[in-house]
Amino acid sequence: MALASSLPPNTMLCLNLSRKSLALAVALWPLLAYNYYKERIVLLEMGRILMSNHGLTEAIDALKSTRVRMTPQRHAILEFLYESMSHPTADEIYKALEGRFPNMSVATVYNNLRVFKEVGIVKELTYGDSSSRFDCVTSNHYHIICNSCGKIVDFHYPGLDEVETLAEHVTGFSVDTHRMEIYGTCPSCQKRINE
Ligand SMILES: [Zn+2]
Ligand SMILES: [Zn+2]
Repeated sequence: MALASSLPPNTMLCLNLSRKSLALAVALWPLLAYNYYKERIVLLEMGRILMSNHGLTEAIDALKSTRVRMTPQRHAILEFLYESMSHPTADEIYKALEGRFPNMSVATVYNNLRVFKEVGIVKELTYGDSSSRFDCVTSNHYHIICNSCGKIVDFHYPGLDEVETLAEHVTGFSVDTHRMEIYGTCPSCQKRINE
C-alpha cells in the first residue's frame, strides 16, 4: 500500500487497465493461439498443394524433355504420387488406379516407376525385404515413419554433413550419402490409441 500511495494517481489506473488487459489476453490466449496455428496450418497446406502442383508440372516437363512418351497411365501415376504424397508402393498405386485403367498390371506400374526413376523425377526407397516405396520429392529430405500404420511423412532439416565428415574421418571410408529415419506414432494413430 505504501508503494501504491507513493505512485502518481494515473499509475494506479494504468496498473488496473494493464491487469485487465492481461486477464483478457490470458482468457483469449487459447483462441488466439488456435487461430494463429489454424492460419499457419492453412498456409502450410496451401503451400503444400501449390508445391505439389508445381512439382507435378515440373515432373511432366522433365519427362517431356526426354524421349519418354507421356501416356495417360504415366500421367495418372505421377498425379497420384504428387496428390497423395504418401510414398506408395507399386501395389498401392496399382490398387488406386486399376478402376481407371483395367488393362494395367502391377508390372506396368512398376516399369513406369522405373522409367521415372531413371529420368530422376522419382526416388525409390528400399526397406529390406518389403516392397519399395516411391517418393516424388527428389530434393534432400528426411522421413518420419509411423510404427503403428507405416505412414511416411517428409520433413526438411539441414543436411547432417558433419556426420558424413566424422564417419569418413573415423572409418577412412569415402562417403557418398547417408540415410536417416525417425520412428514414432503419427497423430491419427495417437488419437486412435487414446480413444
Ligand atoms: Zn500411424
Ligand atoms: Zn519423402
